[in-house]
This record gives sequence, structure tokens and C-alpha cells, in this order.
Amino acid sequence: MAFTPFDWTEEESGRRAAAGLVRTLRPRPAGTEVLDLASNDYLGLTRHPEVTGAAAGAARKWGAGATGSRLVTGSTDLHAELESELADFCGFEAALVFSSGYAANLAALTALSRADGLIVSDAANHASIVDGCRLARARTEVVAHADPEAVRKALESRTGPALVVSDSVFSVDGDAAPLAALAAVCRSTGAGLVVDDAHGLGVLGAGGRGAPAACGLAGDEGLVATLTLSKSLGSQGGAILGPASVIRHLVNTARTFIFDTGLAPASAGAALASLAVLRREPERAVRVREVATRMYERLTAEGLSAARPDAAVVSVRAPSPESAVRWAADCREAGLAVGCFRPPSVPDGVSRLRLTARADLTDDRVDTALDTIVRTAPRGTA
Ligand code: PMP
Repeated sequence: MAFTPFDWTEEESGRRAAAGLVRTLRPRPAGTEVLDLASNDYLGLTRHPEVTGAAAGAARKWGAGATGSRLVTGSTDLHAELESELADFCGFEAALVFSSGYAANLAALTALSRADGLIVSDAANHASIVDGCRLARARTEVVAHADPEAVRKALESRTGPALVVSDSVFSVDGDAAPLAALAAVCRSTGAGLVVDDAHGLGVLGAGGRGAPAACGLAGDEGLVATLTLSKSLGSQGGAILGPASVIRHLVNTARTFIFDTGLAPASAGAALASLAVLRREPERAVRVREVATRMYERLTAEGLSAARPDAAVVSVRAPSPESAVRWAADCREAGLAVGCFRPPSVPDGVSRLRLTARADLTDDRVDTALDTIVRTAPRGTA
């Protein structure tokens, strides 16, 4: 057969299959009959009638799409209202929304670092942070996970401006970053701090105001937070929160803001409605943490190897990638959706089931899910 330029993709695919690392897309039913611990809908808001109603209303009023970059086709009142509400809720001076959290991280890292500078990045940071560092013109130094002293060492040996970047809650194991210590290191060395609060918003801090608020760092002039609207807020999109001067700089320099179509009106409307629900029902943030603790305590009591959750993510270790895939499939067959993380998505090469706590689940439903996970656990998991 004739050679084609993409033959190598088939060869790579064969290697992935041999290592048990093939990813496939599975159909997702529209209903809610599957008990879903795979989604990031931590507060159960994505199907909330006020949220879906606001999405539909915004689409009817402003159109299904944003029609272009907000710098070209104009910026709606809806986007301005969402930015003002996000900043106010989380305790920052100003905010700018993006079409995704991924785009927000690319923006923060490329627009807030300098070509002659340094970015210090935690080894377990999310892929969008890794890609932001790759796109930035600054040099990146990757340091040991959750290690403020390693960050200090990296900063002390630099000559130019510096930025430190960390997830607030790490997406694989659900552990929290030592934010107060990182902020102290940044303050004493003159570095800026970028915190990706994708998994903190809606879960940590009073009423779910996020990890910076939980540490008394919201509104700090040396700190910028990035967010996704797609987890606790049940919508889609991203945001950057920080001093108004930083937000003005981003409008002028962040390529994923300038050259990307603005956030869809339906997503903006949905996120605004979720924030209104969260303001009215702050107990959702308490409940999601309670559910995470219940999951962790049962799993470890059953002898499974789980990391203590600092927020809504609970990870359970599996003996191999193949057994993790089988475990997730057995759960699915029993009506329970769980996440399955394998290399290369796990920094330490250990495959895991990734479970997410949800504020809208009763204890009974959580216990049913846990029964299934325990019953289907592969041998040698502890
Ligand atoms: N940061 C973290 C820590 C995430 O987990 C995610 C989503 N997986 C993102 C950023 C990207 O957000 P989005 O899905 O809105 O692009």
C-alpha cells in the first residue's frame, strides 16, 4: 500500500493500545439516570432551572454566539455584569471573561510574564498552565509539587521579573496548594502570583468564594486568579480576576482575548444565574465538602488508597491503567459514571479513579455510589 503522511499516527496508536492507554469517546445520555461522579458539576447547578433558563434567555436576547471578538463587535451588558459580579463575589477589583478556562490560563501566563523573566510552575499544574508556560516568552522552571521552599530557591537565583503559578486545588489528587506560603514567598521576592482556582471556586472559602478568599488573599495586589465557569458554576468559559490595571493590560495584550470570539451569551447568562443561586444558597459549598469527606472516609475504611480531599475531588488509586479502565467500566455498567485518569494525565504515572463530590446528592445516593466502587474494586487496589 502507498505511504501516506499520517501512517505514523497508526503506529503510535498501536503503541498506545499495547500500553492499555487508548482513549475513546463514549456516548453520554441526555437524562440524569446515571449517577454521575465523573463531572465537575460540583454544586449540581448545570441543570438548575434558573441556570438553564438564564442560558436560554441570554441566547434569545443576544444570539447563540458572541459574533466575534468583543473588541471588534462590541461588548454586551451581560458580559460586563458577569465580570462585575465575578469580581465582587470573589473579592477582586476587576475581572475579564474568556471563552474557556484554558484560554484564561494561556492569557495570564503569556500576557503577565516578561520575555526577560522567569515563570516558576508547580510540577502538578494543569495542562493549560503547562501550555501557557510553553507559549510565554519567559523561561519556565518547573519545581517540586507544593513546595514553597523550592519556589523561593528558584526565585532567589533569578535576575529579571518573575511569576509563580499554581493550581489552588490540584485536579488529579484534589490536594490544595500551600497558597499562604506561596504568597509570602512571592511578596518577599517581588514575584507575582497566578492562582488557577478552577477547583476552588464554589467549594472553598465562605459561601464558595474560592481559595484566595479562603486564605485572606482575595484582592491582594500581587495576586491574579484564573477561573473556569465550567465546574461549580455549571456553565462554560473562563475568567481572570485581579487589579483593574492588570485587567486593562489583558484587554490590550492577551491574544486569547483579542483574537478569540467572546464568551457565548448563553454561557455568560448561565454563569451569572449560578452566582445568584450560590449567593442565595451558600450551604451548597459546605455540602460539597461534606460529601467529599464522606467519600474519602468510606473508601479508606474499606482499605482503598485515596488521598484526603481538600476540596471536591477524591482520587482512588488503581494497580494499573488496564485495571483502572476495567474498574470504571464495571462502575458504568452498574449505573455509576466515574473519571478514569491514566498516564499521561497523571504526573506520577499512577492510574486512578477520579470521583467528584456533588452538593446535590443525598447521603443515600452517595452511599449507593460508594457501594458500587467498593464492590467493583480490582484486587490489589489498597
Ligand atoms: N484549570 C484546571 C485546574 C482545570 O481542571 C481545567 C479544566 N479541566 C481548566 C483549567 C480548563 O478550564 P476549561 O475547561 O474551562 O477550559
